[in-house]
Amino acid sequence: MKLYNTLSRKLENFKPAGDVVKIYTCGPTVYNFPHIGNYAAYAYWDLLVRCLKANGYKVKRVLNLTDVGHLTSDGDEGEDKLEKGARLSGKTPFEVAEFYSKVYLDNYAKMEFLPADVIARATDYIAEDMEAVDVMTANGFTYETRDGVYYDTSKFPGYADFAQLNLSGLQAGARVGFSSEKRNVSDFAVWKFIQPGEKHAMRWDYLGRPGYPGWHLECATIIHKELGEPIDIHTGGIDHIPVHHTNEIAETYAAWGKQLSRFWLHCDFITIDGQKISKSLGNTYTLEDLEERGFLAMDYKMWLLSGHYQGTRNFTFESLEAAKNRRASWRARIASCYQKPVESDEGNFARVLDAVSNNLNSAEACAIIDNSKLTLNDWRQIDELFGLRLISDTPDVSSDIYDLIHERDAARTAKDFARSDEIRNKLLAHGIALNDSSDGAIWYYNI
Ligand code: AMP
Ligand code: ZN
Repeated sequence: MKLYNTLSRKLENFKPAGDVVKIYTCGPTVYNFPHIGNYAAYAYWDLLVRCLKANGYKVKRVLNLTDVGHLTSDGDEGEDKLEKGARLSGKTPFEVAEFYSKVYLDNYAKMEFLPADVIARATDYIAEDMEAVDVMTANGFTYETRDGVYYDTSKFPGYADFAQLNLSGLQAGARVGFSSEKRNVSDFAVWKFIQPGEKHAMRWDYLGRPGYPGWHLECATIIHKELGEPIDIHTGGIDHIPVHHTNEIAETYAAWGKQLSRFWLHCDFITIDGQKISKSLGNTYTLEDLEERGFLAMDYKMWLLSGHYQGTRNFTFESLEAAKNRRASWRARIASCYQKPVESDEGNFARVLDAVSNNLNSAEACAIIDNSKLTLNDWRQIDELFGLRLISDTPDVSSDIYDLIHERDAARTAKDFARSDEIRNKLLAHGIALNDSSDGAIWYYNI
């Protein structure tokens, strides 16, 4: 397999270091409803896992759920997103986290993402976070301010390398409030103190005061405990490169003197009608919004897989319609395979897998699928590779439905279009759609 590695900034041949591919995915902050852009990364990393498995690798994948410590600014200023969610909804942050964790995991199942082997909640790793801060401090990488325990980035010579940061450029920024106590502008909190009078329901006693972990630390400690460094592949959105992933790498170096990951994969953002997804623009569609407009989660996944994970992608309802039609046409072809088996030993699935194995080029794989003769066995493997529920929704029809399909075929042949349309509508009411072809009507489930 070939993957584009953010670390080397080039396409590299991928092989795991051991028997099992160790993958970590930075998961969601569970404080509000996900919009469709939030599923993009997980769809691509799901494809990554499926592709590794199709290439014969065993995989251990850990996904975290951030339920504490992620501030509204992505840095060390602002309100904890969970606390904010709690304030706005009148619930406790623990209730908010539980509610949205369920929303995310339910929707991941709806998107047919393979479940992670470990789903790690940040709040389950607080003791490990404290231990990591102790070790980083013992190793001379931290200092205390009134605001918390800070990482001294000048102690890690490679700090700027991963994101190719221009640290001298950063120095020019203004320093206000607590940040005036920072030694370097790029320093970040590994542990935050809760100030007297500050409302922060999620709190743990450490260093004699109530506080909570800095956002990045959870990923470093979860990886350390659940997988062990270096892992094989770390994944996330490109927005994670300059701060979150840079800081995870720095923490792992300071605490355990290790490289965090051998490969790093980052996906780009989805725009909608050429614009950033944002509440103020009114374009934060959820999966449920798509459903209301007649599109299934699987249609959206088909849309995601019709493009590439690198590079911004623009979502429009026209392109979603095209993805829906593509999936429907694939299902229609599968349906016709059941009726008239396609004999072929052209190795077309191997070509599909080769395309995906080349830096997850699912767009090229889709084009191969569109233009190749495929057997039912090819389709089964494609369904396993893409997780698009192509076949599981295509069971045999009952004999009543089968008779109706043939009755309609006969009506069409006899040019009795009124009767033919009447039967088509009757079938639609049963969730069966028809594609007319030179071989007669091909049916598929129109769900
Ligand atoms: P947020 O909860 O908005 O911080 O989003 C969580 C993660 O989802 C971000 O760190 C991104 O990696 C990803 N994400 C957010 N918006 C988009 C988008 N429009 N397209 C792709 N990924 C996104
Ligand atoms: Zn992370």
